[in-house]
Amino acid sequence: MVDVLVAGGGPTGLMLAGELALAGVDVAIVERRPTQQLVGSRAGGFHARTIELLDQRGIADRFLAEGQVARAAGTGNRMLDVSDFPTRHPYTLGLWQKHIERILAGWVDELGVPIHRGEVTGFDQDDTGVVVHLADGDLLRAAYLVGADGGRSVVRRAAGIEFPGAEATTSSLIAEVAVAEEPELGTRRTPSGLVAFGRSEYEIRDGEVVYADRGPVGVMVTEPHVGPNSDPTLRDLSDALIAACGTDYGIHDPTWISRFTDATRQAATYRSGRVLLAGDAAHVHSPSGGQGIGLGIQDAVNLGWKLAQVVRGVSPETLLDTYHAERHPAGARALRQTMAMSALQRPDPRIEAVRDLMTELMDMDEPRRHVAGLLSGLDVRYDLGAGHPLLGRRMPDLDLVTADGPLRVFTLLHRARPVLLDLGTPGSVDPGPWRDRVQLVTAAYDGAWELPVIGAVRPPAAVVIRPDGHVAWVGDGTSSGLEDALTTWFGRAR
Ligand SMILES: Cc1cc2nc3c(=O)[nH]c(=O)nc-3n(C[C@H](O)[C@H](O)[C@H](O)COP(=O)(O)OP(=O)(O)OC[C@H]3O[C@@H](n4cnc5c(N)ncnc54)[C@H](O)[C@@H]3O)c2cc1C
Repeated sequence: MVDVLVAGGGPTGLMLAGELALAGVDVAIVERRPTQQLVGSRAGGFHARTIELLDQRGIADRFLAEGQVARAAGTGNRMLDVSDFPTRHPYTLGLWQKHIERILAGWVDELGVPIHRGEVTGFDQDDTGVVVHLADGDLLRAAYLVGADGGRSVVRRAAGIEFPGAEATTSSLIAEVAVAEEPELGTRRTPSGLVAFGRSEYEIRDGEVVYADRGPVGVMVTEPHVGPNSDPTLRDLSDALIAACGTDYGIHDPTWISRFTDATRQAATYRSGRVLLAGDAAHVHSPSGGQGIGLGIQDAVNLGWKLAQVVRGVSPETLLDTYHAERHPAGARALRQTMAMSALQRPDPRIEAVRDLMTELMDMDEPRRHVAGLLSGLDVRYDLGAGHPLLGRRMPDLDLVTADGPLRVFTLLHRARPVLLDLGTPGSVDPGPWRDRVQLVTAAYDGAWELPVIGAVRPPAAVVIRPDGHVAWVGDGTSSGLEDALTTWFGRAR
């Protein structure tokens, strides 16, 4: 029996397991792939807020060292400059999903999380826990189960959670193949949609992608009609390429072929008793804009500390309801953006006119910042009530000065513990009986207070930072409301 079993060892499940392990929870992953190695790579990277979340745990450098930094975020239609955003990471990181998962798996391994290789087929839950059924007949017991098992989540289905949304209107094939005839590398529009060729090895030089000149070719092509819900074949890929380009370039020896659509669905609830959903298990959408991994990692970082506190008896189960209350609207907002972006890809002269109009708008500063804020994840605000603009938003990674020397805010979050940061008169705020749970840090900061999209904000006298990096309380020089905030987020005083 473990405290938490995470079904699925993709980016979301790995991140969540890491978060729980950091919080001292007994957690295990169950993953159906026989090895961690991912064949093929859907995602090609992630955005600024995801890099920040990894930085909050002290592991961003591992990803930055292997990836390619682009000072822009791709909307699927054009690149948006994000270099003026007030963040330590004003860029997007290009890094294939197989590498993202490998690096995350290495971190999770260091934290001692076991990974069972097996396929979840269902579960039973009662007031005391969950019994998870595996395909080989084994049973695994846990106090809580999190379904991070992807868009076709067995956990979501077994929990009877509805998955409403919009049906697919278009499908695309993505593959890695050998070719007899070299295609032109890059993305172009055809009468049936987009077609893109590239190589998995590339560099970004002066903002331009420069592909390696050898190795298997990565291909993505829109299908003339929405494809079936079955595994695609080389023949399907060949037909789609001939329809789009008039030739299939003599494709052969595929390493992998996969199909994706613009179907957009979101779980009606992210929690059913002792079972929770995160990542693609909770929401699926078109990959336009490349937000899937970021959304899953944000789900994991929001849920991890809350679930840990409930498991450890520090907080009541109702804390788990704030996971749905915060992440469902954030997910819904991102999903609407992906729907808009994928609609803009349609091969239709009227949509082309809308695309042109959007391009003109994106050349203007405010619309660009609005869309880039959404895409980068830097503008996420959880509704924690009215007040200072920082409330519910991400805490910026400020360079603080403390009695012990310089200190970055994100360094304070490496162990995923809450922080009461006193930036005013030392001693004006105190965590009191929460001292064992909430670290008090007294520091000075005299730089600018700027939030992405919002701009300059009034310097606060103190803030409470949750383990996910979101601000839960803003002080005005008094302790007004501090006890309530500490009770709400970190349990009753003991
Ligand atoms: C073409 C394409 C391009 C994309 N590009 C980007 C991008 O650039 N950036 C980005 O952020 N996102 C991108 N995405 C989306 C991204 O790939 C997903 O959002 C992301 O993989 C979701 O992570 P996850 O861990 O929630 O789910 P998954 O990655 O689907 O992981 C689920 C895991 O659960 C395991 N599993 C499934 N069922 C079971 C079971 N019954 N029992 C045990 N284990 C199980 C699976 O083997 C898998 O390891 C793209 C997607 C596509 C299709």
